[in-house]
Amino acid sequence: MTNFFTAAVLSACTLGMVACNQGKANKVTSTTDSSSTTTVTTTTTTSAEPAKATGKMASNAEIMARKQVPVLCYHQIRDWRASDSKSAKDYIVQIAAFKEHMKMLADSGYHTILPDQLYNYLTTGAALPAKPIMLTFDDTDLDQFTIANPELKKYGFKGVYFVMTVSIGRPHYMNKEQIKQLADEGNVIGSHTWDHHNFKKFQGKDWETQIDKPTKKLEEINGKKIEYFAYPFGLWNEQGLPELHKRGFKAAFQLAEKRDANDPLMTIRRILDSGYWSAKTLSNSIRNSF
Ligand SMILES: [Zn+2]
Repeated sequence: MTNFFTAAVLSACTLGMVACNQGKANKVTSTTDSSSTTTVTTTTTTSAEPAKATGKMASNAEIMARKQVPVLCYHQIRDWRASDSKSAKDYIVQIAAFKEHMKMLADSGYHTILPDQLYNYLTTGAALPAKPIMLTFDDTDLDQFTIANPELKKYGFKGVYFVMTVSIGRPHYMNKEQIKQLADEGNVIGSHTWDHHNFKKFQGKDWETQIDKPTKKLEEINGKKIEYFAYPFGLWNEQGLPELHKRGFKAAFQLAEKRDANDPLMTIRRILDSGYWSAKTLSNSIRNSF
């Protein structure tokens, strides 16, 4: 059962990689789009004086015009096994590499931010720390708790953990107590559906099974409201976005595809930190992708 499930998630991730690669093709467009605003927004994000936070909600056009904050996406943090496929290794960052990548971020002066900070920056222009970055972890893998979290703590970093509730407590996945501990330590728990089905295909009762019930379960575990969502495989469609708004989500995270200009909060971009990347490659990708 576990093997089947792992295989399902990994093959799922291969699909996600397709989305990610497509996103890379879009990168040129988005870089061009944001180039005219780069100077202004750099000032906004790094200036010592507070950015203009008017309290008024920004329009979608204003949100699109702000400089994007880099968001990284991780899955498994463990050493490769002989059985790992070439494509699976994109999703498995080896332990030594993960440690180097976190050290590079700290040495480069990056500060991790949490979804509320990103939401406030996007919607009101609220100030962010210098060199802001968000670290997100999908799929509930246990090594995120045992390997990644202690590494983040070394640098005072916080993370966002997008949990699929079906796997809670299964072998190699986090249990309720571990998820609660992450939340209690100041990290944020978000929803990643019940069992990782394609959001684009949700209909009828799926909204209850894949969204409502997992939200309720995660809120029971954490004693906190669940307000952020990550799409399985990074896949989303325009028609589904109102369903997330209706349920009170403040923002949702995809992979590296272009954002929906009519709903940028529900299509925030992330890049995968690939298992093949050196710290240098990651550093360049962060600068080039957002
Ligand atoms: Zn996932």
